[in-house]
Amino acid sequence: MTETNWIARRLKAMSTAVCGLWLVGSASAAEPARQPATRPGTTWRGVHILSPDKAHLPLLERAITEVFAPIGVNVLVLEVGYKFEFASHPELRQEGAMSRADARRIAELCRRHSIRVMPELDCLGHQSWKDNVWPLLTKYPDMEEPPSKAKDAPRLYCRSWCPLHPKVTEIVFPLLDELIDAFEADAFHVGMDEVFVIGSEQCPRCKGKAPAELYAKAVNDLHRHLVGEKKVTMLMWGDRLLDAKTMKYGEWEASINGTAPAIDMIPKDIVICDWHYGLRDDYPSIRYFQEKGFRVWPSPWRDMKAAEALMACARRDATDKMLGILCTTWMSDPMMLRAILGEGDQSKLPEHPREAAAALRTCMEKMRR
Ligand SMILES: [Zn+2]
Repeated sequence: MTETNWIARRLKAMSTAVCGLWLVGSASAAEPARQPATRPGTTWRGVHILSPDKAHLPLLERAITEVFAPIGVNVLVLEVGYKFEFASHPELRQEGAMSRADARRIAELCRRHSIRVMPELDCLGHQSWKDNVWPLLTKYPDMEEPPSKAKDAPRLYCRSWCPLHPKVTEIVFPLLDELIDAFEADAFHVGMDEVFVIGSEQCPRCKGKAPAELYAKAVNDLHRHLVGEKKVTMLMWGDRLLDAKTMKYGEWEASINGTAPAIDMIPKDIVICDWHYGLRDDYPSIRYFQEKGFRVWPSPWRDMKAAEALMACARRDATDKMLGILCTTWMSDPMMLRAILGEGDQSKLPEHPREAAAALRTCMEKMRR
């Protein structure tokens, strides 16, 4: 079915209040004109990619041209993180960082293919992965929650910064500004997922405060800057806004540390990327976020059956707040891009990239129907 027919079907569905098809939320007045593709009424057919090292950016550029555009991707969420040659804080450049010129080239390439590019830098949580600590907490260890001298937090594989630390605004916001400028972006993804360490009793600023209030403060500070001042659309992962008990999700895809009430303390114009990677009969959060007034962008990963189940649920429960589907891939190694490109002996690639690439193609194919 052609895109035109797709839209016609959706409009018909909306007018007759029949669910079971994609219904696409109309973009807000603050929605963009600088970038193509996701105009009001357009389904968001997204892919989330961890930025490769600079040396492998040509693979990403080929994937954009040879795969993403042909299969119908119209949004690229590029998790750049600290892999950027920040001018405002050169001390925070991670090894393999891309330059501003690299970013401009990728943005231009995406524009030529009508793909809207949205950079991402994980905020608050995910400041480390296992033994690797990202530059912010390496260079400014006093910004960690709790401050590094006091730490005994149980989940240190995934460290957080302190949401009340006075340097957050001064250090982090210029990084976001640089990425927005470099990609000429009209939307920014702030991460905010898997925040396991928050409101530590060992933090002199956060001690005794409710995790939901601390989490909401971090979201609201970012929203004030990104939406209020920079006039871009803000996106974030949804897991910390879900109560694991009520939703019957696990402790990664939902919260058991008191952050869930923050959902009623943050602006409704934030786009929520509702990620779930396991097979279930139902994904109640898709309804929940829409009922709360948020636009939702359900996000599967590499388990094909789970991805299909999530898509089916998204179609079934779509209102005018449903944006489309965001396929995640979760591998910064160039193997991920090689799997997407279908290069070399695919049977020699590990399961992870092969499955993620296959799920991406299947989801995009289903989105065309
Ligand atoms: Zn703190």
